[in-house]
Parts: sequence; structure tokens; C-alpha cells
Amino acid sequence: MANSNDKSGSDVTPQTKVLHLGRAPAEQHGFVNTPVYRGSTVLYPTLEKLKTRTQPYTYGRRATPTTNALEQAITELEGGATTILTSSGLAAVSTALLAFVQSGDHILVTDSVYQPTRAFCDKLLSRLGVETTYYDPMIGGKIADLIKPNTRLIFVESPGSQTFEMQDLPAIAQIARAKDLWLLADNTWASPLLCNPLKLGADISIQAATKYIVGHADAMLGTVTANARASRHLDNAKEALGTCPGSEETYLGLRGLRTLDVRLQRHMVSALEMARWLEARVEIARVIHPGLPSHPGHAIWKRDFSGASGLFAAVLKPVSETALAAFLDHLKLFGMGYSWGGYESLVIPFDPVPYRTATKWTDAGPALRFHIGLDNVDDLKADLAAGFARMGSA
Ligand SMILES: *Cc1c(COP(=O)(O)O)cnc(C)c1O
Repeated sequence: MANSNDKSGSDVTPQTKVLHLGRAPAEQHGFVNTPVYRGSTVLYPTLEKLKTRTQPYTYGRRATPTTNALEQAITELEGGATTILTSSGLAAVSTALLAFVQSGDHILVTDSVYQPTRAFCDKLLSRLGVETTYYDPMIGGKIADLIKPNTRLIFVESPGSQTFEMQDLPAIAQIARAKDLWLLADNTWASPLLCNPLKLGADISIQAATKYIVGHADAMLGTVTANARASRHLDNAKEALGTCPGSEETYLGLRGLRTLDVRLQRHMVSALEMARWLEARVEIARVIHPGLPSHPGHAIWKRDFSGASGLFAAVLKPVSETALAAFLDHLKLFGMGYSWGGYESLVIPFDPVPYRTATKWTDAGPALRFHIGLDNVDDLKADLAAGFARMGSA
């Protein structure tokens, strides 16, 4: 259900599209933005309409003009056939997986996957009789060796959560297509502006819209976009599971979209500068940012992505817990907390050792994940430099 006055023809760039998709001022009395439609019940004017459901909106859970606007915008940006919205990024992941699996299936999931995705596979899918094998994110086309007769799908997330391994999506897609498997990609790090997994051969692209699309740390939201061959499965899952986000959250997704490109450009430039600055610090053992030539997946990033977002990791040389706390506890601009993708800068320690099963994490020092927000980079460097000084004297 496209907005008929939509000015976002496919002849313009994505940078312009994010400004125009999903809104039709002429249909809203000239107001620039699509309003927040709150609603459950939709009234039918006649018995015939009720029986045939031949009106654009039938029930609040299925669609409102607000949800349609965001779905349409994301579909266009991801280059897909259909999009569903969910109440969180994790709900987008779980809905997407449930759309394809059945009891007795086997699935292949990257070892670098977002940890709650892993928990969903281990704790819920396993109960439904779906077996998960985690694979080395760098496996590429060799994933063919892990495919069993009952393998249903491959799940990729590139770069990986926390550890930022780059996956060779086109190579994996070639195998998936040859073996008639579904290929699902969590595209949250890049957003639809910096990578389009569907164009690289995936069937499904997932966004934790909570992150860059909402962009202000003020709402939970998820999106799942399917190509034509996968869309029926996704629509059926949405109908069966009843997934739908709140009206305000949907609106905040639409609003975030308008500044997504300018925010990402700033996140990219600042994060690359901070990554290079950290790489030169004596306290740092290594920086893990796909946009740096030192990253083992740098060539894949250059080939498949049109930019980088603000999230990367750095490993410290071994320090005591007290010294680490001295660094983290008194930062003024960097907050410590989960999630990312908002305007604010964040840092959080992580340890992949307890949950990885297919790959080994061998770094000796503590690992930190940085989200570089929209702050001035000189201010951010000063904040971290003061932290390193505290760490040194702890
Ligand atoms: C945050 C995140 C999610 C989950 O999103 P929520 O909105 O927090 O549920 C899923 N995948 C990735 C890669 C994420 O970073």
C-alpha cells in the first residue's frame, strides 16, 4: 500500500530517499510528516466489506497508515519485496527465524551472532526440535561442509556482534542458493544505507531499528525485510505471531530515518578517527574496526559496504580489574550501557570466551566495545586520555 503522493522515485539516491519515503503531505492536509495513528479496531462500513476485507486497513495489529509508511520506506531502502515491523530487534530476529523453521530442522548460525539471538536458538528453538550449529564467521564458501540433509537456513551477521568479523556473504549466498537454503542476515551494524544484504544474495535482512534507525536511544523497534521468494513466509509469520510495534515507536523510526544518513556519515568519520587514535595508544593491544586496513575483513568491507557506522572494538593490553574500573568509572562523555546507535558515545567491556563454541578468542587483555556518538572527537579523545591516565596510576 504505497503512499500515492510519495516523491521518492527510485531515480534518486538513498540519501535523498530517506527524507521522502513513507510520507505523503497532500494526503495529510499538507502536514510534512505521516501522523501517529493509534488504533486497534477498524470499522467496516458494510457487511460486504467486513466479509471480503476489501479495505486498506482491517485491524490495528496488521497495519496502520503509520506502520505502512515505515514498512514501505524500509522495503525500498533494503531493496526488498516486503517488510514487517516488530516491537524490538530481538523480536525481528525471532520472528524471522520462526518464519522458516520446523521441528526436525537444522540451522547454521554464525559464532559471532548477537548473544540474545544465540540464546533464542539454544533455549527456544532447541525445545521446538530445531538444532543449531555455530560456524566460524570467516568460513565463507566452506560452509558447504556443514550442511546436512535437514539444514533449513543460514544466519549471518556481518560484522559480528562485539568481535566484528566480516562474513563473505556472496560466497555463502552462492552455497545457500545451490542447496536451496534460506539465507538470513542481521544487518543492524550497517543499516540499509551502508549495506544491502538482499542485493548480496540474502533472502532476509533484519534491523534492530532500536539502534541507528531510531537513532536517539528512545525507542525499541525491529524490522524484517524479505525478497520476493521469502515474503510469503514472512507475512505468514507476522500473521501467526501477532508481532507489531507501538504507534509512537513506529513514528520514532520514521523520524529517525530522516537524519539517518547525516548521522551515519558523522558516526563513520568520528569512529574511524577514534579507532586510528586508539590504535596509536600504548595502552591498546589491537583495534577491531572493519574500516581499518589492519582488519582481516577489510577487503570484504570495502567490497560489500558503502561505509562504516560508529561501532567497533579495542583490546587493551592486560590490566588489573581495578585499573580497568579506574578507566571506565569516571568517563564524562562515554556512558556505560547496552545497546548503541544513538547520538551518544558508549563503551562497554565484553568477553567472548564464555559463549563462543566454534571459534577461540585468544586476546589476553580486556576487550572494550566503543560506540562513537556525535560528540566532537577532540572532546572524546580528551575523555579517554584522562581515563588512560587514571588507569596508569591505579
Ligand atoms: C541490539 C541488537 C539486536 C536486538 O535489538 P533490540 O532492539 O535491542 O532487541 C539484534 N541484533 C543486533 C546485531 C543488535 O545489535
